[in-house]
Amino acid sequence: MSRSFSQLAKNEERKRTSLIVSKQPIEEPELKIETLGSSALRQSAKRISKVDSSVRELVKKMLHSMYSAKGIGLAAPQVGVNKELLVIDLDFENSTTPPIILINPEITEFSASIDTYEEGCLSIPGVYLNVIRPSSIKVNFRDEMGRPKKLSTDGLLARCIQHEMDHLKGVLFVDRVTNEKDLKNELKEHGFNKKDVISI
Ligand SMILES: [Zn+2]
Repeated sequence: MSRSFSQLAKNEERKRTSLIVSKQPIEEPELKIETLGSSALRQSAKRISKVDSSVRELVKKMLHSMYSAKGIGLAAPQVGVNKELLVIDLDFENSTTPPIILINPEITEFSASIDTYEEGCLSIPGVYLNVIRPSSIKVNFRDEMGRPKKLSTDGLLARCIQHEMDHLKGVLFVDRVTNEKDLKNELKEHGFNKKDVISI
């Protein structure tokens, strides 16, 4: 949906990154994904002061967890790591495109226009509900090599970045759902407890 993603995925970018991991699912990824009800999902993440090889190791492990769960985005708090780090790959079925890594992301601009779109989350498996968010954003971040980056985007990538950045503040997409009836039914159907949702 978003062209900006493919611009970032230019071959040249790929050559300069040390992070090429297989997108094949693995049976037991090292990092387990926390689910709704876990206190790990409700903490505020901390900025990463230095992007070094230990951060890149964490990124690789997060990518393995994300690809194994067939997700398009994962935030570090979802694997119990309290750091401002996101991994995103809207094209996880295509083995040749690189993921996008966002370290210490900051949204500098939200559009006035909004969209409603059905979201899901690896931490709330099976639950899909409509969420209203700004349709486009501008975001500043560092990549996995510590290089500062800027991105203007819309569509699914803008949606995904906003969803994942909420995780850094301990916010989950179900907290933003406005249709109470759908929320209650959908959570119940998938074995989750509505008391674990926080109204924001
Ligand atoms: Zn999520």
